[in-house]
Amino acid sequence: MSISKKVRQLVYDKCGGHCAYCGKEIAYKDMQVDHIIPMLRNFPDWQIEMGGWTRGTDDIDNLLPSCRSCNFRKGTCDLEDFRKQVKAQCETLCKTFQGKMSLSYGLIVKVDKPIVFYFEKLNNQKEE
Ligand SMILES: [Zn+2]
Repeated sequence: MSISKKVRQLVYDKCGGHCAYCGKEIAYKDMQVDHIIPMLRNFPDWQIEMGGWTRGTDDIDNLLPSCRSCNFRKGTCDLEDFRKQVKAQCETLCKTFQGKMSLSYGLIVKVDKPIVFYFEKLNNQKEE
């Protein structure tokens, strides 16, 4: 099922033109509509049951605006797996030749902090 223009606009407005995950500004045309709980389109029901997963829906509450990178990296992950992936990706980068050298020269700085998605920060602001 494709998402209507009206729904796309609602999704875009959810984070005021930012990616719901990394928070960078995205143009409407570049926005990808992400399913918070993945649709698992190519997964048969039995596989979903075996994996203990839940199949997401096209309901507006399950949709968030995403940039291409975050949408690509999130793939079929749920939020917590995606959070782990983002963290693990940095660990991997720091172990590469380029990462190590950039760290040595102080060109990049490794910061140990929890991954808080942009939409979570927005939600926290609303609650305060
Ligand atoms: Zn992003």
